[in-house]
Amino acid sequence: MAIVIDRDRGIKSELEDNIALECPYCGVYAHMQPQSVPDASLLLRDKPKHVGLVYKCDSCSAPVFLRFAVREYTENTVELYRNFVELERPKERFAFSYLPQHTEVLFREALSCYSGNNFNAFASMCRRAAVSAYHMLGEGGKLRAFEEVLVAQDIAGIDDESFAPIKTVLFGSGPHEELPLLNRAQAGILLEVLKDMFYQCFVRHGKLTRALKVRRFFVSEAENDHAASA
Ligand SMILES: [Zn+2]
Repeated sequence: MAIVIDRDRGIKSELEDNIALECPYCGVYAHMQPQSVPDASLLLRDKPKHVGLVYKCDSCSAPVFLRFAVREYTENTVELYRNFVELERPKERFAFSYLPQHTEVLFREALSCYSGNNFNAFASMCRRAAVSAYHMLGEGGKLRAFEEVLVAQDIAGIDDESFAPIKTVLFGSGPHEELPLLNRAQAGILLEVLKDMFYQCFVRHGKLTRALKVRRFFVSEAENDHAASA
């Protein structure tokens, strides 16, 4: 079933409800309604191979730009293939504020490579972000991180063979040129493992320290009040 833009009637409505995807703005898997559809008469005149439509996210109303390949031009209609390219992919999220600054810069770039489907650029940036993290953790930091990753492997039940390239990216001591080539599935594992490692090494510590500081503050405020009223 294709999407049809008619010279007189615009986009055919029965297909509108069928587009649903993860919104790059709100992150919700939502239905999308066409918001801006190109003029069919201009398409019929120029006959481009690809057509861009702006959809509106049902959840947050943000504009989402999709590109479709044209299947066929008839005298009065433009028929599009249903497959589309998302011009903006959802961004991977992380509690970046808990990371050391240098690690944060590198990990943000790693996630942006991942969102753009550049999985080997992603792997290279993961190596750099990880090395920066070991440096910031100080003496014994790399070993501690390694132990966290082994725990993650165990929890996730990933066998050693599938896990070997992930370990090489994160802990190998060879140069960048020797990093293994990763496919989409392996990059996905690397992403989750590195997020978990950073969580264990930085975010957990940062969150707990902050929460305890707030608790201590309220306890001392309460003690001051008590002393003042006594
Ligand atoms: Zn949205």
